[in-house]
Order: sequence, then C-alpha cells, then structure tokens
Amino acid sequence: MNKFSELSLSLVLGNNLAKYGFVEPTPVQAAAIPPALAGQDVVATAQTGTGKTLAFVLPILHSLTREPLTAGVSTVILSPTRELAIQIHEVFAKMAIGTGVRAAVVVGGMSEQAQLLNIRKGAQVLIATPGRLSDFLNRRLVRLGSVRHLVLDEADRMLDMGFLPTIEEIIGEMPTSRQTLFFSATIETSVAHLIDKHVRNPVRVAIGSASKPVEQVDLHVYEIEQDRKLGLLEHMLRKEIGTFLVFARTKHGADRLSKKLISGGVKATSIHGDRSQSQRNQALKGFQQGQYRVLVATDVAARGIHVDGIAHVVNYDLPQVPEDFIHRVGRTGRAGARGVASTFSTRGERRDIQKIERALKVQLIRQAVSPDIQVEKKSAAPVIVMPAPYQNRFEQRGSRDNAYPARNRRVGGR
Ligand code: ADP
Ligand code: MG
Repeated sequence: MNKFSELSLSLVLGNNLAKYGFVEPTPVQAAAIPPALAGQDVVATAQTGTGKTLAFVLPILHSLTREPLTAGVSTVILSPTRELAIQIHEVFAKMAIGTGVRAAVVVGGMSEQAQLLNIRKGAQVLIATPGRLSDFLNRRLVRLGSVRHLVLDEADRMLDMGFLPTIEEIIGEMPTSRQTLFFSATIETSVAHLIDKHVRNPVRVAIGSASKPVEQVDLHVYEIEQDRKLGLLEHMLRKEIGTFLVFARTKHGADRLSKKLISGGVKATSIHGDRSQSQRNQALKGFQQGQYRVLVATDVAARGIHVDGIAHVVNYDLPQVPEDFIHRVGRTGRAGARGVASTFSTRGERRDIQKIERALKVQLIRQAVSPDIQVEKKSAAPVIVMPAPYQNRFEQRGSRDNAYPARNRRVGGR
C-alpha cells in the first residue's frame, strides 16, 4: 500500500489527510491501520518519529464515524506526559474536522473545570495522562463503562514512570470487550506483561529494530571536561544553523544552563518538572514557533514531544539509562529528515558511553574538541561578610572543621 487513498478510510479523513499534505502512509501506519480498521487489537513497536500518532488516530476516527453515536466516553487514549497528550490532541483535532467527533484533553497541571466541561459537553474521546484520569475516576467525575477503544501510547514510558497501578485501575473501569491499540517505542518485559493481560490476539507490528536509534541521525560523541561543555555548546550554536534540543540531567541543571545561554545572548528556554504547566506549554510553543532556538529539557519533560525540524540534539549530560538515549536522539531526524545528536561525555564517563554503544548496538563517532574551547568563566561567588563576633569565634577554633566538634561538645554539655 503506497497511498492513504488505497486504505478504506472514510472520505472526510481522506480529505483531511490531503489538506495537511499527508499522501503516503509511513510503514507503521501501513501495517497497523488495516487491522485496526478491521477491529483487531494491535501491538506496534516502531522507532520514534515514524508516525505512530496517525497510526492510531486515523482508525479510531474512522470507527467512531461509522459506529452509531452513543452517549458517554467511547475512546480513551493514554499518554505518559501532558505535553504528549496535548500534541496528540492537536493531531486528533486536525483529522477530526468535519467528523463531528470531539476529544477532551485530561491532564494534570491545568484547570480541571475546562476539561470537565468538555467531557460534559459530550466529548467521545479522552486524551489523558493516567494521573488526572484516575483522579477524575475516583471522584466519579467521569465514567468509562461505555469505552470501546483504548489506545496506550508510549506504553513503555508510562511503566517507567510508575503508572502501572494507575493504568490497571483505569483499564479495570472499562468493558473487556473493547479494541486495544498498544504503541511503544521499545518493548521490555514489564510491557510484555501488560500486553498479555489486556490485549487480545493482537496483530503484532514491528517496524525496524526498536532498540536502535533512527538511522538518519549522525551520532557524535565529544570527550570534554565538565567546565568546557558550555563553551563547546556555544561554539556549536555559533557554527551551525537550526534549533537545538539540549538534555540536562536535573531540573536545576536545565534551569542553570538555559540561564547561562540566555546571558550569552542565545534565545533559550527550559522545560522540566518544576515549571508550571503553562510555563511548559509556553516554552514548547515558543520553541516550535521559532521564538527560542534552544530548548533545554530533562528526560521526563521531553519524552514524546514532537517538534518539527530539530536540527541538533545535544546530550549535555549523559542519560541515566541507555533507553533514554534512543528517546532523546529520536527527537531529531524525524519523518525522514537528517539530524545530528551530539553527546558530551567526561573522561570518567567512558564506560557509560561503551554501555550505550553495547545496549543500542551503535557506534558513536568520536569528535575532536577544538583547543579553542574555553573553560567556563565562573560567575563571581557571592562574598559573605561575617559579622565580627562570628569571625572571632571561628578564629578561636582554628580550622572550620574543628568548629563542628567544638559546637557539638558545647551543645551536648548543656
Ligand atoms: P512517533 O509517535 O512515531 O514518534 P509522530 O506520530 O509524532 O511519530 O510523527 C512524527 C512526524 O512525522 C510528525 O511530524 C508527523 O506529522 C509526521 N508524519 C506522520 N505520518 C506521516 C506521513 N504519513 N507522511 C508524512 N509525514 C508524516
Ligand atoms: Mg508518538
């Protein structure tokens, strides 16, 4: 099958696809859509950026336009993060034009009222993160007794994030006679268990090797001292064109790095779990629309987000686990475009690089670091002037290390 028009999708969907310039299905779409249209369960693994969203959005919309309209929620799409749910909703809304099918986003960090209102107004489809949906269920604000289609997107990540009990609870509210479409970038043993339990005679779709990063991404590694990383990143930003998605290990690290970039004149923003949902949405939108050139992110916040045309992914800090490496580099080189992923690693992290290479069966290309890359200038440490009496006390005790036993003894003696 080479064209969407060869699939027996309803006319309105065909028109919407054409309107947004989708002509040929990607391999995962070509393989997953026909069995899904036939009502079968599907378990699909494919690398990130291969078009899994449309692979479930299209058959769901087709089925909903064919089935008799019933009251209540007929479809639940579960996604690990708020950002991803919002992105799925954007794709869904475009394809749903003219179908009469309406979807509500149900995610944490945003006003409940608006979400509940959408549900009460008759949204047939909920695009949800497990946490907020479970909260609504427990408060009896939503019922899932009439669900006929369930989609689990990025199932592996939902399990990584500890959502297994919540997912089980949500599925427990649904009829067993339903269609389940199961999507994941990778399938690990815990995921297999979930499939065994909740998916019936699935058609298995596996496109490419799920454990390998996308092939059109050049994987570079730079061995560099921690305090020269900023210099190297700034050098890349000067030398290259295009947007950069930069991964930091911690929320704090992400914030600090984006501030340093901004003070160096780069349009940068950050996305991580400590920022409010509206800040995260604003950062993502701004990055998508070209207002920011650099988005600094932590793994959890970035998972599954899709931004077109990211030229360069930088692993400023190494990922905690090799799987995260796939998800990170999969943010570039999407939908056939080429991309570069550069990993900064310190001398002490050589073994971690080897671990990544072994786990993913890839070879990262060693890149030399130019000697011109400067050591980061430390911002002047704040000078704390001790009031005189305290100064004297420290002087009496001699070194600072001795100060603690002395104080302890005194406290103990009281
Ligand atoms: P995944 O969920 O597999 O990581 P997405 O569904 O987010 O991938 O799709 C990645 C990109 O590919 C998006 O920009 C999407 O618009 C584009 N895309 C999806 N399907 C097609 C298609 N059939 N033809 C062209 N581009 C597509
Ligand atoms: Mg996806």
